[in-house]
Amino acid sequence: MRLPKLRELKEAVTAVFSPRFTTRFPAEPCVVPEKYRGKPEFDLDTCIGCGACVNVCPTEALTQIDDLEANPPTRKITLRYDTCIFCGNCRDNCTTEDGIKLSNEWDLATLDRESTIETHEYELQLCEKCGAVIGTKKHLIWLYEKLGPLAYTNPSLLIAKSGELLTKPQDIEQQPDKDIQTNDFMRILCPKCKCELNIRL
Ligand code: SF4
Ligand code: SF4
Repeated sequence: MRLPKLRELKEAVTAVFSPRFTTRFPAEPCVVPEKYRGKPEFDLDTCIGCGACVNVCPTEALTQIDDLEANPPTRKITLRYDTCIFCGNCRDNCTTEDGIKLSNEWDLATLDRESTIETHEYELQLCEKCGAVIGTKKHLIWLYEKLGPLAYTNPSLLIAKSGELLTKPQDIEQQPDKDIQTNDFMRILCPKCKCELNIRL
């Protein structure tokens, strides 16, 4: 019976003279490991607004709305980190691999849930024939640069890169009632219109 007591006494004395294992947060900042999964953060230089991260978010912490009434038409991607579970799916499936990262920021408690919402906007490219959403302008330019010489097989990407993206969408003459014409070849087209054009050609 005495042996366990002696062992406990030894542990107690050792603990008194050992460094503590708890942190002094909030008196001192708590340093988390390098690979800690904290608040997701967009890198607006490398994020192209493609929406792939929205599709894989299991909690709908990431949502997306295409506002076609806005001038210019805009995609809005919203992150609510009050519903984020820090799973990392968005980071792991990011198209550009750098558009969103999980930071080391973990002290996110707040009484104001509205402050946990952030929205980023990306200009949309619409089909010049039927007005359907093709994607964001940043996404088209990223594809052009990614494809290199192969991009020359796709007139839409060429035009996008060569500055046609600067055309204001309201200035684009859309002719949804007219059949697709051969001269539509040099326009920015959605996959459906491009398919119709290829059949006609
Ligand atoms: S970490 Fe997970 S839950 Fe949070 S935004 Fe990314 S995909 Fe959604
Ligand atoms: S998948 Fe990456 S590039 Fe696409 S919208 Fe999300 S963060 Fe941006």
